Amino acid sequence: MIVMKFGGTSVEDAKSMQTVIKIVRKEQARQPVVVLSAISGTTNTLLKVARIAQEGKLNDAILLLNGLLDRHVTVMENLIDDRSTIQRLIASFKPRFEELQNLCQGIAILGELTNRSLDAIASVGELLSSQILSEAMCIQGLPAKWVDARTFIITDNQFVSAVPQFDQINVKSKEILSPLLASKTIIVTQGFIGSNSKGITTTLGRGGSDYSASIIGAALDAEEIQIWTDVDGVLTADPRIAPAAQKLRIISFREAAELAYFGAKVLHPSTIFPAVKKDIPVVVLNSKRPENTGTRIVSRPPKTNVPVKSIACKRGITVVNVQSLRMLMAYGFLESIFSVFNKYETSVDLVSTSEVAVSLTIDNTSTLDKIVAELSTFAEVSILEKQGILCIVGDQMRSTAGVANQIFHALREINLVMISQGASEINMSIVIEESQVDEAVRRLHKQFFEPIPAIDLFELVGGK
Ligand code: ADP
Ligand code: ASP
Ligand code: MG
Repeated sequence: MIVMKFGGTSVEDAKSMQTVIKIVRKEQARQPVVVLSAISGTTNTLLKVARIAQEGKLNDAILLLNGLLDRHVTVMENLIDDRSTIQRLIASFKPRFEELQNLCQGIAILGELTNRSLDAIASVGELLSSQILSEAMCIQGLPAKWVDARTFIITDNQFVSAVPQFDQINVKSKEILSPLLASKTIIVTQGFIGSNSKGITTTLGRGGSDYSASIIGAALDAEEIQIWTDVDGVLTADPRIAPAAQKLRIISFREAAELAYFGAKVLHPSTIFPAVKKDIPVVVLNSKRPENTGTRIVSRPPKTNVPVKSIACKRGITVVNVQSLRMLMAYGFLESIFSVFNKYETSVDLVSTSEVAVSLTIDNTSTLDKIVAELSTFAEVSILEKQGILCIVGDQMRSTAGVANQIFHALREINLVMISQGASEINMSIVIEESQVDEAVRRLHKQFFEPIPAIDLFELVGGK
């Protein structure tokens, strides 16, 4: 079997959904499980609805919900010819929207918005898009069946960024999905959403549909996990920042994991791990140009002599500088610093140390005040906000002399706040001011990829 995940832009309107049906039909013999995102923009709108309700603007929230319902009805009317199917779908949407309204009412009255409510609201987007696609597939003669992902994607209780419980997911997926696959049914389910052990809706975090796809792929021992999106594959940089970015035909799991972790939005940061465990290839494909071969992500791609393959970047980073003379020659100092971050469950991305100072970067600043207060009991602490990370990735970097030189040359006019060579030596990460991130990415891209090296690894976007 294979998993085929389609992102928001791949299902943004009736025409795109029709293309999805065509793509799935072609793969029918490979027993696809189709994992769907919400129609593009829906999750953002739903989260906005929740916030507006919290501000007490219930009428505005309901207006937005009505707009969302209209958009879904338009998609289904343009996609499905059969009037009775449309009526049935609209009837099944009604209770979902009523529930959303009730939730909003509760939030507006209390003025309180919990993560649990946010998940209940955000999950509706995927439920709607997948219902429309599944019905349209059936009308067009495909043996599709809609399956609620919350029956088999079991997570812990961390609403908004729930952690999948792999043992339970494995059991449930085999119990619920395998018999359907055996009877040649095309399963249509949702990305992003799951439920805790009590059956309460959770989500895997923004962009989490990619992660759902690889979780399902690993649970069912898929032969391939396909991530269908709006670009040709994994590119040498985000094309929105560096328009000259080109496609990579093949990269390693490790390279993809680093890129995703350091901000390449094309893959959710956790997508690669379940695939690595079972050594399942992940293929990133463009639903707007399905004939393109995309990017294959595998455990051991053929070696090339290209040191740098792609550049990722992340914004909204905070640097915490910890300084103390006690660090000099003392053991246990780093441990005492990290134990503070551990205590407040804040993960540290980059670390760089000198004799008397340690600099660390964090993403999540929700407990920063407490962290600073506690670190200040034994060291001097300073904070740098609004920073960004550039991450230059390529698994041949370690064995190529002069790459650092080229990086520093490209960035010579930019102030480098922190430099860290990953322990795996397949990346170099550099902290700079957030406002300079785009310019830095473009300069690095120019340095390494313009003109693009004339080797088979790269393919011009557009397939030329
Ligand atoms: P989907 O809705 O299909 O999940 P996303 O918007 O989450 O799509 O991810 C696709 C986007 O990721 C692309 O449109 C592109 O702007 C961005 N992106 C960032 N870095 C890269 C990269 N290295 N290669 C390809 N796309 C990238
Ligand atoms: N719809 C969700 C989001 O917008 C999940 C996803 O698209 O991957 O974050
Ligand atoms: Mg995405």
